[in-house]
Amino acid sequence: MSGADDAAPPRAPAIPVLRVADLRKYYAVGGAAPVGVANYVHAVDGVSFEIGVGETLGLVGESGCGKSTVGKCIMRLVEPTGGSIELAGEDITRLRRRDLQPARRQIQMVFQDPYSSLNPRQTAETVVGEPMLVHGTASGRERKERVSALFDAVGLRPEQMSKFPHEFSGGQRQRIGIARALALNPKLIVCDEPVSALDVSIQAQVLNLLIELQDKLKLSYLFIAHDLAVVAHISHRIAVMYLGRIVEMAPKAALFERPLHPYTEALLSAVPLPNPRAERGRRIILKGDVASPIHRPTGCHFHPRCPYAFDRCKRETPALRPVTNGHWSACHLNEGGAGSQPAFSGMTAATDAAP
Ligand code: ADP
Ligand code: MG
Repeated sequence: MSGADDAAPPRAPAIPVLRVADLRKYYAVGGAAPVGVANYVHAVDGVSFEIGVGETLGLVGESGCGKSTVGKCIMRLVEPTGGSIELAGEDITRLRRRDLQPARRQIQMVFQDPYSSLNPRQTAETVVGEPMLVHGTASGRERKERVSALFDAVGLRPEQMSKFPHEFSGGQRQRIGIARALALNPKLIVCDEPVSALDVSIQAQVLNLLIELQDKLKLSYLFIAHDLAVVAHISHRIAVMYLGRIVEMAPKAALFERPLHPYTEALLSAVPLPNPRAERGRRIILKGDVASPIHRPTGCHFHPRCPYAFDRCKRETPALRPVTNGHWSACHLNEGGAGSQPAFSGMTAATDAAP
C-alpha cells in the first residue's frame, strides 16, 4: 500500500530555517481497548514541510487535526514518536534537554490565549524580560532597556512596563506575548492560533504587526489557525491538514485559485474570497464530522466525507505529491501530475447553494 511516507519532503523556496520530515506523534490512550492492546491517537502521522528565511507557512485544518501537536513537537514540548526536525540544518529531534538550549533561543512560540500564558502576578516588564533572565542573555539595566525597545517594537508604550496582565486589553496582551517571543532574537516563531481569541477588529492589527516584524527582523513563522481567512492574511504558503496529515500544500494564490484537494475546496467554499472577481463555486457542505484519530477511516482518511470518493479511496492512502510546481496534493484524483485537468471540473458534487 502506498502511503504519505514515500513522498520526499516538500521544498520551500528559500534555504530552510526549519525542515520537518515525516513527523509523527502517537499518544497511547486507554479506554475500550482489550487488555494488553493499546489504542493510539495518531495526532500527527507523517508530516513533512520546510519554512524558508522570512517565510510564513500557514497550517490550517479543523480542530483536532493535529496542528498544535506539530507546533509542540517543533518546540520539543512533546517528544515526537518519529521523524526529524532540523533547525537551520541542525537536527534537533533527539537533542537532550541541556543540549537543546541554543536551539530553544532560536524558536519561540506565541499561544492562542495570551491571558493564560502570562503570569498574572508578574509585571509586563518581568514577563517580557524573563527569557533573557532564564537564558542569561541580558541583565539589569541592559535587560530593562531591551524590554523597553521590545515594547516599542510591538506598539506598546514603555510606561506600560510596570502594569500587570489584567490591566491590558486582549490585543495588548497578545502584543506582550509577541514581545516576549522576540526577546531572544529568534529565527522562527511558531504562532498557534495567536488571534483566535481576539475580536475580529483586533485580529487584523495583530496580524499586521506580525507581518511588519517579519519584514524588519527577517523572521520566519509557522502560523497555525483553524480559520483559513486568518491564515490567508499572513501566509506565503499554506499547508492544509486533515486527521494528522498534510493533504495539500501550495503558495497562497495557487491554493485559492486552484485548490486540488476536495477538503481544501470545501474549506475554501466557506470563506470570503480575497479576490471578489474570482469565480465562486457552490458552497460545499461536508458530510459528517471529522473522524476520530483513534479509529481512522481506511485509505484516504477523508473519503467518508468526500463528494468525489471512489472505490480506490477506501483502499489506498494517496501520497502527498507535487502536482504542479510547488503545489502538492494527496488525492487520487490529482495523480495525473503536471498539466492534469482541474480535478473537479464537470464532476458532480454533493453541494448546497451558498447562503
Ligand atoms: P489541533 O491543534 O489541530 O486542534 P491537536 O494537535 O491539539 O489538534 O490534537 C490532535 C489530536 O491529538 C486530537 O485528537 C487530540 O485530542 C489529541 N491529543 C492532543 N494532545 C493529546 C494528549 N496529550 N494525549 C492524548 N491525545 C492528545
Ligand atoms: Mg490547536
